[in-house]
Amino acid sequence: MKTAIYPGSFDPIHNGHLDVIERASKLWDRVIVAVAVNHEKQGLFTMDERVGLIKKASRHLPDVEVTSFEGLLVDYVLEVRANAVLRGLRAVSDFEYEFQMALMNRSLDESLETVFLMPSQENIYLSSRIVKEVATFGGDITKFVPAVVNDAVAEKLNH
Ligand code: ADP
Repeated sequence: MKTAIYPGSFDPIHNGHLDVIERASKLWDRVIVAVAVNHEKQGLFTMDERVGLIKKASRHLPDVEVTSFEGLLVDYVLEVRANAVLRGLRAVSDFEYEFQMALMNRSLDESLETVFLMPSQENIYLSSRIVKEVATFGGDITKFVPAVVNDAVAEKLNH
């Protein structure tokens, strides 16, 4: 059984992430979306909330599992027996960091492959940061996030 792991902060999940997850679910038998614990960065949503939102947003995809992990990605990949690390590529600006991460992970574990998927054009400019920024100033984010996320963001920001 081929498994891909899709790590990230997902604070919160948006349509760009979901686009990548949907594409991946056609290519792998199992896709694990793994929320990375970051003690240095306080997000808008807690770890449990992020996991819950991803679960609800990906309910239509039976082969998608959602978890969280702490520590080195390469260790977690071994633990869940994944064959590939999945990352999304938006624009050239993502490339340098992603390239560095992929090669670092490979040098930590030679067998680890990183696979990049591109979202469709309408989702290419989305990031959690920009979605939160728009929502904070009262902008409408319904086009950019799943409905459950739209409601959760409105509740968080007391809109
Ligand atoms: P964000 O930048 O939205 O906070 P994350 O850290 O949660 O993203 O990113 C997890 C992965 O999803 C990364 O590989 C990132 O490049 C990818 N990703 C983020 N936004 C998009 C998008 N709009 N389209 C495709 N991939 C994306």
